[in-house]
Amino acid sequence: MQEEFTISTNKKQELIDITDRINSIIRKSKIKNGLCNVFAAHATAAIIINENYDPNICLDLIDALNKLVPSGVWRHDKIDGNADSHIKYAILGPSETIPIKNGKLDLGRWQSVMFAELDGPRSNRKIIVTALGDKD
Ligand code: ZN
Repeated sequence: MQEEFTISTNKKQELIDITDRINSIIRKSKIKNGLCNVFAAHATAAIIINENYDPNICLDLIDALNKLVPSGVWRHDKIDGNADSHIKYAILGPSETIPIKNGKLDLGRWQSVMFAELDGPRSNRKIIVTALGDKD
């Protein structure tokens, strides 16, 4: 099965925990065991898995990306000024694939699925969830 949803972001850069949203889509699909792919259909927003118990980890990741990739010094900045967002996105990647076990994401104790906004705020960020597997 496949389902899309959109989210709005409020900051230039932020991480948004979408784990519950993905689990409710899997619940609806009735898939018990299989694989779930979560894909951001954008070139300046990524999907990652990371800890969200301490929200400072999200801020630290954004700080680290900003230290690695300065803004305003790239060729693409002449077009629309967001080359650093594209580079950060390419480092993080557009998707994650997660095992489904007993009808939900089989994440580790400290893992959450996060949408990484890298060029916000945006009102219409599209996430595509594809779940494959056995229903019994
Ligand atoms: Zn651009």
